[in-house]
Amino acid sequence: MFIEPQARKGWIEVVCGSMFSGKTEELIRRLKRAEIAEQKVSIFKPMIDTRYSEEDIVSHNDNAISSTPVSHSSSLLLLSENVEVVGVDEAQFFDDELPSVCEQLARNGVRVIVAGLDMDFQGKPFGPMPALLAMADYITKLHAICMSCGSLASHSFRKTASKDKVLLGEKDAYEARCRTCYTEGMLSEAAKQREEMNQ
Ligand code: ZN
Repeated sequence: MFIEPQARKGWIEVVCGSMFSGKTEELIRRLKRAEIAEQKVSIFKPMIDTRYSEEDIVSHNDNAISSTPVSHSSSLLLLSENVEVVGVDEAQFFDDELPSVCEQLARNGVRVIVAGLDMDFQGKPFGPMPALLAMADYITKLHAICMSCGSLASHSFRKTASKDKVLLGEKDAYEARCRTCYTEGMLSEAAKQREEMNQ
């Protein structure tokens, strides 16, 4: 379990992993502990994620914490004055400036906690996440449970045919899978598509 550093102020923490790995729950846990320590906390999420509620970060198990939807990462700098801890959820959907914005905040003495998907459903690094992972002081990679075989899962397998990258995390559209079951699924999807094209 992640223990808060007691050292100097200003650093970046990244919480990453596949879908259903508990990233938002972990983000909320850290932010609630900061609030208990009477630190001033601000939480942001990309405007795009309006699945449940405009105002709240809501994880899949209803453990909610109030957040501000923003359309561009530069808003974080404007909205974080006098804040000690900044939380960012669904970071993969932010623009490419998010890493430098986080760097700026950390340099100003802010503790920045970023949660996001490290890979998209095609197994590729997702949006600004690879740069954030490179720049982070602390990284926590969480694992879900593979829904095919029950071992640890690091991949998000999409069960629908849509190629759209921004298909939001509805439980019925995705499945957490280990590398082996993910690869098997992708291969059988590709075979199915080839078959359809030949018909
Ligand atoms: Zn598996």
